[in-house]
Amino acid sequence: MTRLVVGTRSEHKLAEIRSILAERVDWEVIGLDAAGVEYDPVEEDLEPFDSFEENALSKARHFHAKIGDRVVVDDSGLVVDALGGAPGVRSKRFAVDEGLDPSNFPTVDEANNRCLVQRLEGVPTAERTARYVCVAVLLDGQHEPLVVRGEAEGVVTLEPRGSGGFGYDPYIIDPESGQTFAELSPFEKDDRSHRGKAFRALAEAVAGRP
Ligand code: IMP
Repeated sequence: MTRLVVGTRSEHKLAEIRSILAERVDWEVIGLDAAGVEYDPVEEDLEPFDSFEENALSKARHFHAKIGDRVVVDDSGLVVDALGGAPGVRSKRFAVDEGLDPSNFPTVDEANNRCLVQRLEGVPTAERTARYVCVAVLLDGQHEPLVVRGEAEGVVTLEPRGSGGFGYDPYIIDPESGQTFAELSPFEKDDRSHRGKAFRALAEAVAGRP
């Protein structure tokens, strides 16, 4: 079976990517820890760019050089219209950028969500439109980098609901079902999510390669 290393330290991302790909390709999908890639502080500096594409390429090149094997990475985030596109590529670091200390919160996600709510208080629901974006890059050392993008529309609610998913999911309503992404089942989230769209496109593109 072909091995595919996902260049992420996020167990949530890895689980979603594994389940999205499982239906389409016969690959053993493993994370950095399982691939024996020890954490290196330089990983914190791999996403300095303003676009998901550049950040994803930067991460993919780093991990491909380390592993010397096929690597896929996901750079993703939440783009909020009323915030001029923030937090966008800074989604993981929103709280820090806004001057909050994540160590004062149970999790970094909770600190980021507090920021989101604070920044959108007073903004009418109709103007709280947003979208999740995921750019996936596959590097195999033979072909040009394969770059795919998936987006999922949403509306930010200031009242969290649901316990599934991760990150901003309890605050983002999927317009089709009226449920937050944290209320959707894992299957439903994969079906509609930015990550689901990007990684299905990736599997299709790989299957169509000569
Ligand atoms: P990255 O590791 O730089 O790609 O940052 C991803 C960040 O975007 C995560 O830490 C989350 O805050 C957010 N994010 C990405 N995908 C999702 C998702 O599917 N649900 C909720 N938040 C997400």
